[in-house]
Amino acid sequence: MKDTMATVTEALRSAGIEYCENLDLSTHTYLRTGGRARLVAYPRSTEDVVAIFAMIAHSGLPYKVIGNTSNLLFEDGQDYTFLISIMKMDAVSHDPQSGVFAAQAGVMMPELARQALYASTSGFEGLEGIPGTVAGGLFMNAGAYGYELKDVLTHAELVHPDGSIEQFTTQQLALAHRTSVLRQEKAGSIVTRLFFKGKPGDRDKIFSRMELYHAKRHKYQDFMYPNLGSIFSGSPYRVLGRRDNIYRIRSAIYFLFRYKLKVFHKESPINRRWLNNLAMARFPVLRYEIQPFSDKTLNCLVNRGQGTDAMIKFIRDLEHMAQGEIPLENEIVEPF
Ligand SMILES: Cc1cc2nc3c(=O)[nH]c(=O)nc-3n(C[C@H](O)[C@H](O)[C@H](O)COP(=O)(O)OP(=O)(O)OC[C@H]3O[C@@H](n4cnc5c(N)ncnc54)[C@H](O)[C@@H]3O)c2cc1C
Repeated sequence: MKDTMATVTEALRSAGIEYCENLDLSTHTYLRTGGRARLVAYPRSTEDVVAIFAMIAHSGLPYKVIGNTSNLLFEDGQDYTFLISIMKMDAVSHDPQSGVFAAQAGVMMPELARQALYASTSGFEGLEGIPGTVAGGLFMNAGAYGYELKDVLTHAELVHPDGSIEQFTTQQLALAHRTSVLRQEKAGSIVTRLFFKGKPGDRDKIFSRMELYHAKRHKYQDFMYPNLGSIFSGSPYRVLGRRDNIYRIRSAIYFLFRYKLKVFHKESPINRRWLNNLAMARFPVLRYEIQPFSDKTLNCLVNRGQGTDAMIKFIRDLEHMAQGEIPLENEIVEPF
């Protein structure tokens, strides 16, 4: 393995592709977890990705492509062999004639939404607060507030492990709620470029919607501790309610008096500690020495320094209770 690694680093060096060795993931991943990445490559173009695949074919090195890691849980104390980060593929352009936005894989979704705002183009507003890349977004058809990536994507360029380059239409990518052909098939292909088209809109109205969504996010989303957004597509509170009548009745009272029947300040509460405490009282499995979930919602894993074992246990416990009712959104990256 040592020789293989040396061969690949040498190949990266001679191809002029940036890389780093022995990266401490706990200081670089979005959740601030994970052991060591032995090698990380930073391609800047489709050609770089093709060259990296040739090196992989030659060396047999196991790999994983990463974006901003905002949906990934890397395990503490573990080694990961080879990561391909697309974060330096970050060029975006807009053709006013055709209205098409061309983005490299590593362009952040908020940046794309901002570009659309500049161009008075509607359809991207809900993407403004999702802290991931457009390629990471395509992988799981990211979306919020009724906007989904699939609604504005026209096609994408993919590089397959054999080095071939192929254009995929939105239909071929089978984008549906938080899924795509990439997520289902795990074929190891890398998305390199994406093309989007929205609808002409009024810039002030687009701005107002983005501002509103941004403010709303701060209400229900944890911004103190590193986190990965929603753990599940769906509500774990509903799952608990279906498992326990007392919890269901008490949480319904909470909903009525803390939200629904409030005359003034009819907004969601700043946190749901009361509801979480009730959940912990009714479901002892949710009690931890250091709470692995947000005060704002049980559906968000937070890093309070408790380590990834506790985080994974929490996800698995909820999964066990949910029994497939709500699909897992976050991805646990097994060491390789
Ligand atoms: C605070 C917060 C809020 C969030 N809110 C939302 C939300 O409202 N809606 C929503 O949908 N998500 C949300 N998320 C989740 C996350 O941001 C999205 O899943 C996002 O699409 C992940 O993009 P990424 O670049 O971080 O991808 P990563 O987490 O790095 O990777 C995710 C997956 O995509 C694959 N991948 C990445 N790049 C490529 C590529 N070039 N080719 C092929 N596969 C690739 C990876 O291998 C991995 O399996 C939120 C996360 C956080 C932390």
